Amino acid sequence: MTVRLRQVPQNAIRTRSTTRLDDFLAENTLPTPFVVVDLDIVADRYRKLADALACADIFYAIKANPAPQILELLVELGSSFDVASPAEIDMVLAAGADPTRISYGNTVKKRVDIEYAYDKGVRLFAFDCDSELDKLVQSAPGATLFCRVMTDGGGADWPLSRKFGCGPEMAMHLLTRATEKEHPVGVSFHVGSQQRDPEAWNAALERVGRVFDHLRSLDVTPALVNIGGGFPGHYNNEVPAVETYARAINTALHRWLGDDLPRVIAEPGRYMCADAGVMQSEVVLVSRRSLEDDCRWVYLDAGVYTGLTESLGESIKFRITTPHDGGPTGRVCLAGPTCDSADIMYEHADYQMPLALEAGDRVTILSTGSYTTTYSTVGFNGFPALRDYYLPRTAV
Ligand SMILES: *Cc1c(COP(=O)(O)O)cnc(C)c1O
Repeated sequence: MTVRLRQVPQNAIRTRSTTRLDDFLAENTLPTPFVVVDLDIVADRYRKLADALACADIFYAIKANPAPQILELLVELGSSFDVASPAEIDMVLAAGADPTRISYGNTVKKRVDIEYAYDKGVRLFAFDCDSELDKLVQSAPGATLFCRVMTDGGGADWPLSRKFGCGPEMAMHLLTRATEKEHPVGVSFHVGSQQRDPEAWNAALERVGRVFDHLRSLDVTPALVNIGGGFPGHYNNEVPAVETYARAINTALHRWLGDDLPRVIAEPGRYMCADAGVMQSEVVLVSRRSLEDDCRWVYLDAGVYTGLTESLGESIKFRITTPHDGGPTGRVCLAGPTCDSADIMYEHADYQMPLALEAGDRVTILSTGSYTTTYSTVGFNGFPALRDYYLPRTAV
């Protein structure tokens, strides 16, 4: 739901964005857990990336946060969209986007879903193997098809390797086949989500360059290169500025694909909303496992099943603030409220929290605008799904 806010004074000393989220948390005692997202920050993120990566069309990967408020904002700003299912296509169209601005980037699609997308006007599809290409040739005639090549996911905190992509030689074979069926063709890759190394795109684009050289040797002009997502949010580590990523990518694009670039597509997900949102959660219990245990167990009313799913394997380490910050701290294990021992966020990562922390305290989990709301289960153990609120854009 979108909420109304009282006017924030223009001369506020803190940054406007911080003020809006802080004010919302200070003024509301809404039931926890919930996420609140500042749409001004989302707009700012979109503009920053679009400016820095001026050679690329931005396709927001909506799985990061598909709230209608975000989709409508991005439609207004001129974004395009990466989707993975018919339901996501419907959401993007409902937000007012033209179907020509949609890319069906999932390499694993039912035939009926391809037909649905094509019927709605979608003309951009991903694939990475012969049998998926067969489906597309039959059900999406004339559509632009891009082949996803594998990356190793090195440097990423949430790798998307293994499950997707093929080697460059196989891509050459598949794209040649697609060309023979009169499809415009391209190549895509994803360097892994929360990619902390801006140079990761360089190795991937070297592979794309080899595939493009092969296509050109057959007199085929590649229609597009899709450089995927991977741009970071701010968790426990500092990350390079998006401009640093853009510089590395621009350099690599020209190094491996030449001066005459095809259409370039980027698919940011996490970057667009992560830092625009914060999660509010309540401490349910603080305990110790034994009298000698030096690690306190802190149980929150949010957990692995309520939006903090990316803490699995302690991959994404969220920053957390408490009302007692500044006081003495001690090591904690952090867990969710359900009766499942997989519902532990951090046990081995060295999380420190104030010794004064107690049941009833509200804690704030930062950079939780992406990959939280839709990762929440529907009533596991009877706990409500994560609620979400969106602070409307201030007039510009
Ligand atoms: C998830 C996904 C993205 C977005 O990745 P981020 O790391 O969140 O930027 C982009 N493209 C595809 C195909 C994806 O599956």
